[in-house]
Amino acid sequence: MNSVRSSSLSFEEIDSILRQESPYAFVRHQNQIFWLSGLSREFLGATAATALMQSVFEAHRDLSFFILRQRIYTNEPFCEMTAGMLKVIGKRIEYDFRAQGRVELLSKLGLSDIVEVEFVDMQSSWQAVLQRKRTSVFFKDEPILSAESAYKLLARLQSEIPKQKALHDQPREVAALLVGPAGELISTAVNESVLNKTLHAEINLVQNFLWTEKIKIPPYYKIYVSHKPCKMCAAMIYESCENPSLNEVIYFQNVEGRHSVNTVLDRRHLNRQIIS
Ligand SMILES: [Zn+2]
Repeated sequence: MNSVRSSSLSFEEIDSILRQESPYAFVRHQNQIFWLSGLSREFLGATAATALMQSVFEAHRDLSFFILRQRIYTNEPFCEMTAGMLKVIGKRIEYDFRAQGRVELLSKLGLSDIVEVEFVDMQSSWQAVLQRKRTSVFFKDEPILSAESAYKLLARLQSEIPKQKALHDQPREVAALLVGPAGELISTAVNESVLNKTLHAEINLVQNFLWTEKIKIPPYYKIYVSHKPCKMCAAMIYESCENPSLNEVIYFQNVEGRHSVNTVLDRRHLNRQIIS
């Protein structure tokens, strides 16, 4: 069912990764350790841990729920983006993890007796996330000059969300817009969490922009979303703006539930609801 092939990392490769300072994250499920490394510290729109979570959903749809109930380890420090995604689709994490080599790593995990541990390289799954074609529609001639015109366009986009079989979530009709300072429509995105649980509309919108433009979202850009951003999306937006206090996040419909209260955007008073 999945088209992403993963290979195994050798013990020597693991030793070498652990000796370097570059970001890594891993999670153990039974006798497999799903491993992601090789991101640069300057990479936008992902940490090693968020990339690992997105990759697990991309490659192991059937098992992802079980894998991500386990503790994730990363050598990176706390960051809002990691914490936000963990709260919505993960469970536990240890930041600032360090081990000198594979033997120390296994003993820290209490695995010293287990001979057969497989280190599964998630790099190709991560490449699949990076290359995933995300639904984005452009209407170049329609500047978004009011919340009302944003609302109309969001409604139109929501109606165009392809109806697909739900793998994880029931399909929810959520769309998002990125609008420039003069009302110019920069990009659009819709919720695709039936394909990969991490692909909420706002994540699609932000990652599309960062990975195409290779810059953070500039000041005075606005984000319109049909529903209130959850903790994962709020954190992604927050960490992806050059100066979030100079951006506006406007949503139309409130969402109840623990994933959508007390987000980083709420805590910093950076999003607001407009009742349509
Ligand atoms: Zn979300």
